[in-house]
Amino acid sequence: MQLTIVLPSYNEEEVLHETSSRLLALYKKLISDKKIDDNSRICFVDDGSKDNTWEIIQELSQKHLHVSGIKLSRNRGHQNALLAGLFSVEGDIIISIDADLQDDINIIEDMIDSYNSGNDIVYAVRKERATDTAFKRATAEGFYKLMHLMGVDIVFNHADYRLMSRRAIEHLKEFKEVNLFLRAMIPLVGFKSDNVYYDRAERFAGESKYPLKKMLSFAWDGITSFSVMPLRLITAMGFLIFLVTIAMSVWVLWIKLFSQEAVPGWASTVLPIYFIGGIQLFSIGIVGEYIGKIYMETKERPRFIIEKKV
Ligand code: UDP
Ligand code: MG
Repeated sequence: MQLTIVLPSYNEEEVLHETSSRLLALYKKLISDKKIDDNSRICFVDDGSKDNTWEIIQELSQKHLHVSGIKLSRNRGHQNALLAGLFSVEGDIIISIDADLQDDINIIEDMIDSYNSGNDIVYAVRKERATDTAFKRATAEGFYKLMHLMGVDIVFNHADYRLMSRRAIEHLKEFKEVNLFLRAMIPLVGFKSDNVYYDRAERFAGESKYPLKKMLSFAWDGITSFSVMPLRLITAMGFLIFLVTIAMSVWVLWIKLFSQEAVPGWASTVLPIYFIGGIQLFSIGIVGEYIGKIYMETKERPRFIIEKKV
């Protein structure tokens, strides 16, 4: 069985040597245990790095039979780089993992065992978020819960560390969208799947390439690419306001007809204008977000361009 591990790498010169030597040690063991074939590969995808990432990948691939690399023509972001790797490599089973190896590689053997017992997709799931800051933990777990509430089928605390069979990859190729949010797309492929649990470590070198701004935009993309719930909420909100308005009209009429205290109300005139105005702008914004998505999808631009392979 041929295994390929795909690692998207953006400005990762500080970690590549350590990462490849850890993985090569694992390959050595798996090959001698006859779990995987000798033609198995480790494939680094250089996502248009500005540092020496590509030079190091080239050097590693010359030195080690099991290391290969793909260079994208420019930086396209983690999800696109990952997709480029998944769609370009050979292998009966393909595992994706971050280049910083924060995710524990010792469960790879368990993932392969799970594949051998009939699972096409094996999700690696974090047991707990002890190495995260309280802020990151709260926002990340809140995000998974929100996605769930919005009706998106997503594995709790699973990121992009997973094993996929050849046929699952081939079916993933039939998904043509350019707004990529892989962790919600993969469950749509179906097939029998399994979870394997692990603890996440700190980065051993370099710094996170996912600052808060990128994290927020990733979460927002995830929601609007997979759920029309925000649009439905607008409809519900509009209906609610309609009901409130009817009740208010009845009340105003009642005051006017049956009492002497018709108030020359500034508040009751001006406040609703701001209120409705705000809601309208907000709603148009959300609708616009989806139109933006349609716009991007209709262009059918390539999701990645490969410059070189080694
Ligand atoms: N990454 C990428 N392109 C980007 C940003 C990040 O390929 O534009 C890669 C990065 O090299 C790493 C993975 O995505 O292998 C996850 O990034 P990082 O470890 O910085 O994120 P964190 O673990 O902090 O969420
Ligand atoms: Mg990381």
